[in-house]
Amino acid sequence: MAEMLHRFKQLAEVGYCLDFEEYLSTSRKELIIFSIDDVKSRYVPITQNCPKEIIESVNKNFISSKAGYAVDAHSIFQSPFICDILLVSSDFVGNESSEIDTILIHELAHWIINARLSAPKLSGDEITLGDNIFKRTDHQNIAMTQHTNTFCQLLAHGCINYNKKYSAFPTPQECIESAMRFDIDLNLG
Ligand SMILES: [Zn+2]
Repeated sequence: MAEMLHRFKQLAEVGYCLDFEEYLSTSRKELIIFSIDDVKSRYVPITQNCPKEIIESVNKNFISSKAGYAVDAHSIFQSPFICDILLVSSDFVGNESSEIDTILIHELAHWIINARLSAPKLSGDEITLGDNIFKRTDHQNIAMTQHTNTFCQLLAHGCINYNKKYSAFPTPQECIESAMRFDIDLNLG
């Protein structure tokens, strides 16, 4: 579905002042978006022109989750088709809401770190908000989640910018809690 791709690009601009289209063209990459279908236990491509071998490769190892982002997925699958992959739960596909936007803002922060893009300059408020959310994450599984302190601070930057533009949440804290709602203990807020 083109809408998800379009929204992802828009949110790169809103949250992080980054031009996702330019990233794709300078790295000569495509972004493939897969919907995570828990019922069929399959990743189903929702962007066009996804090569069959990539579909087969990603589906060799289905893991249920809400979302994920892989930079240079072609190197994982040893495919000549140069691509990044965004995974999103099928619950989120075809809908639009600020609760879905925050998940995309979250995946964009993983993208920025893993693609080694230069980090934006962070304000004191962003650092504090990021540090506070970091304290509520699962530190045991940090190697897997990649929810480092740096990640949380960057995500705070994206959430503050997002909420400045759309005022979708009463406070930036609620915005970042939405972005991390599958990854933190919501009762500790
Ligand atoms: Zn994450």
